[in-house]
Amino acid sequence: MVIVNDEKRIVFRRKKISEVQPVKPNSPLELRCDGEGPSNIESVVYFYGHVVEKSHLRLVSRKAARVRSDNCDNISVVRCFRPYSKTKLFSISQEKITESKRDEVEVARRKDHVSHFVLRLAYCRTEELRRWFVIQETELFRARFQHANSQDIKTFMEHNNLAFTPISTEEMRSERENLLNGTYNISSGDQMEGRTFFKVPFTEALELIRTRKVFIKEGFAYVPDTELATLVTAAFRAKLSQALAVTNRALPQLEDDDRLMRLLQDFDKRYTGSDYAVKKTGSGLSISPSMIEELSQKSFPLCMRQMQDALRTNHHLRHAGRLQYGLFLKAAGLSLEDAMAFWRSHFTKIMDGDKFEKDYSYNIRYNYGKEGKRINYTPYSCIKIIMASVGPGDSHGCPFRHTDASVLKQRLTNFKVNQQGITEVMELVSKSHYQLACTKYWEVTHNADSPGINHPNQYFEESQKLLLGTQPATVRKLAPTIKVEKTVMYASQMSSTQLSSQSSTQNSTQDSTQNSTQNSTQITSSADMESMLFDDDMDGAMCESMEEK
Ligand code: SF4
Repeated sequence: MVIVNDEKRIVFRRKKISEVQPVKPNSPLELRCDGEGPSNIESVVYFYGHVVEKSHLRLVSRKAARVRSDNCDNISVVRCFRPYSKTKLFSISQEKITESKRDEVEVARRKDHVSHFVLRLAYCRTEELRRWFVIQETELFRARFQHANSQDIKTFMEHNNLAFTPISTEEMRSERENLLNGTYNISSGDQMEGRTFFKVPFTEALELIRTRKVFIKEGFAYVPDTELATLVTAAFRAKLSQALAVTNRALPQLEDDDRLMRLLQDFDKRYTGSDYAVKKTGSGLSISPSMIEELSQKSFPLCMRQMQDALRTNHHLRHAGRLQYGLFLKAAGLSLEDAMAFWRSHFTKIMDGDKFEKDYSYNIRYNYGKEGKRINYTPYSCIKIIMASVGPGDSHGCPFRHTDASVLKQRLTNFKVNQQGITEVMELVSKSHYQLACTKYWEVTHNADSPGINHPNQYFEESQKLLLGTQPATVRKLAPTIKVEKTVMYASQMSSTQLSSQSSTQNSTQDSTQNSTQNSTQITSSADMESMLFDDDMDGAMCESMEEK
């Protein structure tokens, strides 16, 4: 059993089942910014439930972040969060809680609260995970803060000791001109009427200062109440960062508890959407080797297109690349027989058929569950690909994460992505929003809205749905034509890793713009396609993880 007294220490001790207490609600508010953890977590099953709940919240936060980065408009976060929160009891406003619902709401809030602390444990282990988690939770917090009404905000601020001092009427009068000139969105006396300004140390309002939204004087920033969310969010971010560092230091004590370790291990690599497993009934998508070259340019995500390019150029992929690409093609509808023919056609350009059969055919059959443990392996999710380690000579991984920025930019230019699209993609990459960058790439190359990319096969299916005319409602407009051009990778466009891969096979490298006899790029979609779309299937994701162990 876990006792989390966050900020200072975390104590773990096993608890007998007989000691397990029913859930006791202890969260008076939906919003929380304190470091105070739950006093106990009742069971591993309950613990798991919290994690699932919070994982779903993270998806909302990711979507919110995407809309926000598109529009640079905080209102979008609220817009994203609102439909999600409608059915969630924890987000109900204090004044709307009826007596009959009080217990339920309290339990929901407690569950949400506990789940946040569970995820702290899972995401405190490395600097990268901490940074990612802080971004997600801060976005979520901002959405929830903006969703809350003024009474809830007031109670929240009191509860969390967030007291910002409003300036006096005299100071308001004496600084009136400065405030009008230096405050974003307040430039006339009318707009200033009825506003409250808070005077805070400039270190608490860095984001507002960076975007030149507030007036500063003698080390203090004058923040209008319209920017309160930014102030509180900054406080939340600072507290959370600090708390994650504290939790990380206490983590070794967790190692005593195998049950928790099993649950927390690799949690960050787990994916909560569809696993895109190939259904055994076999009524899914279908593609053939002759379609792959053209599909890679029209509908494959950049990670897979990159591997098709490397395969065309080098006639070889390393083991990790064959796994990532092979499983993707399998889920995209390539049969085992076709997969054999596809890989053989490339590899036998630099080796004889016997060597291919001896060294490579086993792995292909293995991917399809015909060898070894005979498991129906699922394709890799974005999270798994992004977190993979990629070394010199490797072609796998996520280009938005693993490719040098200048090389990526050049590649996008070669793919005829427009300048504005490149700028937006690169900006997201620079902030480590790799999936958002991929989503933006999908949107600019398809001229349509995307629901958000979480899986390479989801990318592919969304693309095919659009191109085949069965696009979802989110689509803004159909791309009249998507320019398809063959791409040859030149040395100057390659990352150092790809360069070294190329040099190792240089003798056999030819410009093999493979016979792309794409008579038809139609894929055979079926009713099953719908069920393979993103569906928050946590159980599938957990099974995937278990299989891999
Ligand atoms: Fe591939 Fe996902 Fe990276 Fe896009 S975000 S390139 S789909 S791994």
